Amino acid sequence: MRHVLGSEQFCREELDKLFKLTDHIRENERSYSSAIADKVVATIFYEPSTRTRLSFEAAILRLGGKNISTENALEMSSAIKGETLEDTIRVMDAYSDCIVMRHPDKDSAERAAKVSNAPILNAGAGSGEHPTQALLDTYTIYKNKGRLDNISVAILGDLLYGRTIHSLIKMLSLYENVTIYGLSIPQLALGQEYIDYITERGTKYIKVDKITDLPKDLDVIYQTRTQTERFEKEGIKVEEIVIDKTAMDHFGDDLIVLHPLPRRHEICTEVDNDPRAKYFEQSLNGMYVRMGLLYEVLVNGK
Ligand code: ASP
Repeated sequence: MRHVLGSEQFCREELDKLFKLTDHIRENERSYSSAIADKVVATIFYEPSTRTRLSFEAAILRLGGKNISTENALEMSSAIKGETLEDTIRVMDAYSDCIVMRHPDKDSAERAAKVSNAPILNAGAGSGEHPTQALLDTYTIYKNKGRLDNISVAILGDLLYGRTIHSLIKMLSLYENVTIYGLSIPQLALGQEYIDYITERGTKYIKVDKITDLPKDLDVIYQTRTQTERFEKEGIKVEEIVIDKTAMDHFGDDLIVLHPLPRRHEICTEVDNDPRAKYFEQSLNGMYVRMGLLYEVLVNGK
């Protein structure tokens, strides 16, 4: 594996291998503590981040690597002086062995990969994709459900601008007999290109209007935050679809509830103690999956 640009590049075998490696690192963490000791990993974030940047940086440090970082690259790097993304990446490429990058443009990861010898790990590209989030989401579903074939997943919230949704449903479409239910306000419905992509691969897509339309034996709810920052000027009026205790009562014990976080009020805090709420476990998994990914790219990929 060289660059990680989008979910489309993965096949089932690679995911299986990555998840096994992640488990192995998790269970034998001390033996990996200097696995990338000779590597410098750059984390360049042109958009805000808490979990993605810090879990990557924790993963780098836990594998014994070194990290150079800019957390507000739009203002604190030469971007504010008018430097192009390509020029910044050319320079970072010379300084580091791997570049983890978040940027507001949908095609930023591909552009960076064109000019970089160091692997580019897409840590979120505008409203396009967020493939490393999909890796940890898919891993979390697998760890909880014990399977990825024969699952039903409801995606909720901002299906239009939510990059985590886009990457996740593409990844899940690798598996057999997957049904995705989509629930959003009409203005934030899933783009047709994503519906076409997953249905061409045999995944069913069913649009629903309310939580109680979802099957009671649903496997996964994947709730998301409305990406207000992406459409501030368009004046879309948002009524959130909220998961509260009453909504949870509709479903059985085998449900799990995921959210890429940050959450605002689309999952009520009263749900946090429900054993089916797995979003904090999900964010912890992110660090381990990113350790696995860095090892795969920097050690196995060499
Ligand atoms: N943290 C996720 C992302 O970067 C989800 C979100 O911001 O709502 O896409």
